[in-house]
Amino acid sequence: MSEVGSNGGTATQTTIATRGGSKTTIPEEAVDAFDERVQGRLLVPTDPEFEAATRLWNGMIEKSPALVVQPTGTADVADAVNFAREHDLELSVRGGGHNIAGTALADGGFTIDMSELRGVIVDPKAQTVTAQAGCLLRDVDRETQLHGLATPLGFVSETGLAGLTLGGGFGYLTRRFGWTVDNLLEVEIVTADGEVRRASRDENEDLFWAIRGAGHNFGVITSFTFRLHEVGPMVYGGLIAWPFDRADEVLDTYRELTDEGPRELTVFHILRRAPPAPFVPEEWHGKRICAMAVCYTGDLDDVDDALAPIRGLGDPVVDLLQEQPYTQLQSYLDATQPKGNHYYWKTEFASELPDELCSTVRELTEECPIPGAQLVLAHIGGALNERDADDGSVGNRDARFVYGVAGMWEPDEPNEDDYRQWVRDAWERLRPFSTGGNYVNFQTADEGEERVRATYGEHFDRLQESKARYDPENVFRTNRNISPADGDR
Ligand SMILES: Cc1cc2nc3c(=O)[nH]c(=O)nc-3n(C[C@H](O)[C@H](O)[C@H](O)COP(=O)(O)OP(=O)(O)OC[C@H]3O[C@@H](n4cnc5c(N)ncnc54)[C@H](O)[C@@H]3O)c2cc1C
Repeated sequence: MSEVGSNGGTATQTTIATRGGSKTTIPEEAVDAFDERVQGRLLVPTDPEFEAATRLWNGMIEKSPALVVQPTGTADVADAVNFAREHDLELSVRGGGHNIAGTALADGGFTIDMSELRGVIVDPKAQTVTAQAGCLLRDVDRETQLHGLATPLGFVSETGLAGLTLGGGFGYLTRRFGWTVDNLLEVEIVTADGEVRRASRDENEDLFWAIRGAGHNFGVITSFTFRLHEVGPMVYGGLIAWPFDRADEVLDTYRELTDEGPRELTVFHILRRAPPAPFVPEEWHGKRICAMAVCYTGDLDDVDDALAPIRGLGDPVVDLLQEQPYTQLQSYLDATQPKGNHYYWKTEFASELPDELCSTVRELTEECPIPGAQLVLAHIGGALNERDADDGSVGNRDARFVYGVAGMWEPDEPNEDDYRQWVRDAWERLRPFSTGGNYVNFQTADEGEERVRATYGEHFDRLQESKARYDPENVFRTNRNISPADGDR
């Protein structure tokens, strides 16, 4: 750690934000004692590693904490939680830093950055994996695929495992195996009182229920154990796209696929302008297209049958569908979402794709002024719909699609305000088709408590009760927050 005081305090103290929104100063001895106790690094803004530890994926959000600790184990995490609570600090927890609302950091506060904790242990016989909470998705897929195993994770490999899992989690395997949290067997967690607990279906069951969907609110998870399934290592998929003037036909085929296709087939439908990527013929750069991101994880002998409706459309302008390793498909879309660009999304869950939703999506694509924006329909229906409504706080078991509008532009974009407004207006036209639920992990910083309530629906009150039990002072509040029942807001 550099000399304390460089973050705005005097030479002998650290000035830092408190939970009440004011500032406090921590004496040098207290910070030094904490620094000596933990094995991991303690960083202040003048340290060379500070910038990397506090850069977020969404470049629209810039926050600078006053202190960052990088634990090397659970004991460091417990010390950090106790330090934050004892000094009443505004605390945040950083996983992969991918959250669009930038909830990994609290401005002027204290951040527990989990990035040093990236161990993964696979038990191929038991078909389980235990992963530390600083893992990115690719860390987990890489190890499990050594054994031809996988658990449902998202489709951009740089995303953090912790943030994704704690809000529910979905990806190409969700149709077969449910939400990511449907595959969660156990966690280790440091709760607000500094205690290290385990939670599973047999131990601290109420905590385990709350963590499976609203997990950012209940402590610092240090490790996750998931059930694994046989997947790959070779699967079939990639991107395929047609001219936008065929949108009606492509959308009809998409609906047919999502009604009748096998669970081993997952297709995300994307309407956008073609990026100037080497795999897109030059004459299509910047032109509107209808694309499908495809993943087929079934028996490769049956792939032609599964993909027949897609192939039947004929004459694509891009066709990158091929047999490839599952890990490659899991990172296929990484380059389309570069770190540091500005991102602004609005999404909902839908249970059907009525004509009117399809025509609205098509019209919005025609009208969209943002060159890098996309209108997305992601198929998730299947296993998640078959579980009990209260199997975990994640709920939303009527959702068969995640859909919405995803705006992206470069940091120096002069039309940023207009673009954001356009996304909000587009969302107003998309909202009528929602189940009423939405995905907590896709909420932007300007979405308030009513959206968090909508995410959890009938589970919200029970979550507030759990919050009152495990975090009555709302120590974990830099997130899509659930305030404790009758407690500190
Ligand atoms: C390009 C991109 C693609 C995406 N694709 C998908 C997808 O396919 N499927 C999907 O489900 N989601 C997807 N997401 C959304 C993703 O789930 C969220 O952005 C998620 O918050 C990312 O987790 P993270 O650890 O990187 O986030 P961070 O920003 O580090 O953290 C997010 C929240 O989790 C909390 N948190 C992090 N670690 C812990 C911990 N150990 N204990 C307690 N709380 C913790 C943080 O405090 C914060 O509130 C995508 C996001 C991006 C940016």
